[in-house]
Amino acid sequence: MLPGLMQDRPLRIIDIISFAATAHSTQEIVSKNVDEPISRHNYAATFKRVAQAAHMLVSLGVKSGDRISTLSWNTNRHFELFYAGPGLGLVVHTANPRLPDEHLIYTINHAGSRVLLLDRNMQAIYERIADKLETVENVVFLTDAERTPQGYQGYEALIADKPATYDWPLFDENTGAFLCYTSGTTGDPKGVVYSHRSVVLHGLAAGLSGALGFAAFDVVMPCQSLYHATAWGLPFAGPINGVKFVFPCDKFDGASLQALIEGEGVTFSGGVPTIWTMYLEYLRQTGGSPGTLQRVIIGGSAVPRDMAVEFDRLGVTVQQIWGMTETSPLGVVATPTPALAAEGDAAMKEQIWTRQGRMMFGIEMKIVSEEGEALPHDGEQDGALMVRGPWVLSRYFRADDDATDQDGWFDTGDVSTIDRFGFMRITDRKKDVIKSGGEWISSIDLENIAAGCPGVKVAAVAGIYHPKWEERPIMLIERHDGADVSEGDVRAYLKSRVATWWMPDRIFFEDVPMTATGKIDKKIIRDRHAHALDSA
Ligand code: ADP
Repeated sequence: MLPGLMQDRPLRIIDIISFAATAHSTQEIVSKNVDEPISRHNYAATFKRVAQAAHMLVSLGVKSGDRISTLSWNTNRHFELFYAGPGLGLVVHTANPRLPDEHLIYTINHAGSRVLLLDRNMQAIYERIADKLETVENVVFLTDAERTPQGYQGYEALIADKPATYDWPLFDENTGAFLCYTSGTTGDPKGVVYSHRSVVLHGLAAGLSGALGFAAFDVVMPCQSLYHATAWGLPFAGPINGVKFVFPCDKFDGASLQALIEGEGVTFSGGVPTIWTMYLEYLRQTGGSPGTLQRVIIGGSAVPRDMAVEFDRLGVTVQQIWGMTETSPLGVVATPTPALAAEGDAAMKEQIWTRQGRMMFGIEMKIVSEEGEALPHDGEQDGALMVRGPWVLSRYFRADDDATDQDGWFDTGDVSTIDRFGFMRITDRKKDVIKSGGEWISSIDLENIAAGCPGVKVAAVAGIYHPKWEERPIMLIERHDGADVSEGDVRAYLKSRVATWWMPDRIFFEDVPMTATGKIDKKIIRDRHAHALDSA
């Protein structure tokens, strides 16, 4: 083999912000912080703050390879740590404050973090778990001197007198940079370590026009949490393309988002469906319009078709994405192609609204039968979705074995179809598929259809034990504020839209439990209603 004769410069995360500080120096990062006025720093100033934060971390005694944990919302300071930590060769563990205490403690101990950096309103959580944290030596509140709780160190005070440049070390691009845990709805949370190489490649790919399609004219407001798979890579895809950022902190309610959209000219946002249900409800109640907002990426759970339709009516394009912590997380993004456009505007929109997305370069995909045979991409047959690529997990943190098969394929745990245009559609998570009398019922399809019934805010479907059919679906309905939709209404709505044997055996009107990452918590539903059909 003839070796290539090109430079062997490692891919480093710090080079992303260093580039933006020069090529897009005046673009702004606008941020809310807990109980503080909005802050504004451009990329040039941010890069200096990143250097100061790096000096601060070094002064706390951490060394390359050490882990630090953050317990923080979507803010500029959290964003700065996304560069300062990896820039030094540290691994940033983004702890999820919505996890139950025992899982939070587990992840920070498992990470072995030496420093914990947290927002002001995390003080109560921290003080509840402090004596169970085994490795944390330093705690830093991500706030200014005035607001730092008594007896603690504060970020702004610690970085204030530090130099604004840093001699960033060169190291192997396969060095770990982020440690993200899956939410552990089954068993203990599992840690995924992203490398500099995987983060940079993922960030480059995420910005492509066949994916999120970023340009320096975009004003991006991430509403997916920075602690959830690094907010789907936006903190990296953004600066690579020079976007302006608007960080909402923990204020994801409709009124707060609308104020930022109007005040900052937000063009692009993203998040799990729950956020957008709240936002659309807010617009409906106030008669407001989404103003400058042009595009919203939605993923984490299936996008109800009606949500996409409503956004479309308001002039906002919805792009569904699918991914998981183990895929950094972008796997597919729903973007149009000429072949789809040739089928007409309505058909194209329908494809895009009802599929999770189209394959993107960098992630190989296949679907396989229960026997492991590759299935055709005909949009009909569904099978276990397997993925492979430079930003897909190979082994969980501290595990002894690889999480892939011998050819490097990772089983996502999802069941899906792939069609001839390369569009992938999730029919269910393997563990959520309902097996009724030997036939399969897709809980996701049933939820999506029910979500279209007027008055329904969230519909959740789970399979529970049935003495005759093995499993049958039950449905939970959460109503919109003030709506009086009844069981009869839901059944009448479903009747013309689903096969009779898909009709849920019971419908309960109650709050739908959500996981720490904003997904319907089917485990809780199954436990809560485990015996609802015992005497059926
Ligand atoms: P966790 O499992 O920790 O809640 P992840 O974000 O890693 O968090 O979850 C990934 C899973 O979320 C996927 O395997 C898939 O089941 C589901 N998911 C993500 N995006 C979508 C989507 N657009 N439609 C349906 N399911 C999705």
